[in-house]
Amino acid sequence: TGARLQARHLNVYINGAHILKDINVEIPRNKITCIIGPSGCGKSTLLRTFNRLNDNIEGLRMTGEVTFDGDNILKAGSSRLSELRRNIGLVPQRPCPLPMSIYDNVAYGCRIHGIHNRHQQNKIVRHYLRAVGLWDEVKDRLSSPASRLSGGQQQRLCLARSLAVEPTYLLADESTSALDPISSHKIEELFTELKVNNSIVMVTHTLSQALRIADHVIFMYMGKVVEEGDAEQVFRHP
Ligand code: ADP
Ligand code: ADP
Repeated sequence: TGARLQARHLNVYINGAHILKDINVEIPRNKITCIIGPSGCGKSTLLRTFNRLNDNIEGLRMTGEVTFDGDNILKAGSSRLSELRRNIGLVPQRPCPLPMSIYDNVAYGCRIHGIHNRHQQNKIVRHYLRAVGLWDEVKDRLSSPASRLSGGQQQRLCLARSLAVEPTYLLADESTSALDPISSHKIEELFTELKVNNSIVMVTHTLSQALRIADHVIFMYMGKVVEEGDAEQVFRHP
């Protein structure tokens, strides 16, 4: 299937500062796309533009287009936006579980899809907690507040919550940065399995991670995309 998410002549300004400069990218379906580049080059800003999470930044101005299924999402109204965010989910860099139990954080995704049956919810919660490697650690305290988990556990919980919404595109902002190497590898493996049904866009500042898992890469530098393409080709001809 072809690309459905793309940016065309996208410019982002914050208080007059030119943060993203004429971005033209296509995010392929059912692949892992890695956005790579030094700190401050605009990776998060680009990622967050894909589901309009930058909207609340004061002094923000955007020009150009970000299209999803051919529809310019920069022009989407609020009801279209919430529908869009179900299709394009974001796992933030700093984990921010909802102020509720571990269980309910994940079950939230089920409710979005109208799954209210407790037995079904239990199965889904268990499925996604297992997928992120958290089930064994939390299965005996599912009703305790998510805020009691460690940073790394919260990051995996937030990932499970985003996955339970079953978005078409999953945007991940350095989702493995707070994790130990083993958990980090588990998440990488999970992303590789997920791309069968979902498309992943992840920000990383570690080239080695991109080398391991990227199918498609976007290199950024000082607000610009300096290279974009199939990972094998880009990495083979640097
Ligand atoms: P990266 O993810 O590559 O580290 P960011 O997208 O976070 O880069 O930031 C790109 C640039 O935009 C930086 O210069 C940063 O200071 C600026 N920026 C990001 N968010 C804001 C904001 N809310 N207000 C002002 N400047 C911001
Ligand atoms: P509550 O009063 O919050 O529903 P319960 O005693 O029913 O508390 O269970 C504690 C939490 O653990 C609940 O949120 C419940 O849905 C969840 N839970 C119980 N059994 C399972 C299970 N087998 N798999 C997943 N979650 C479960």
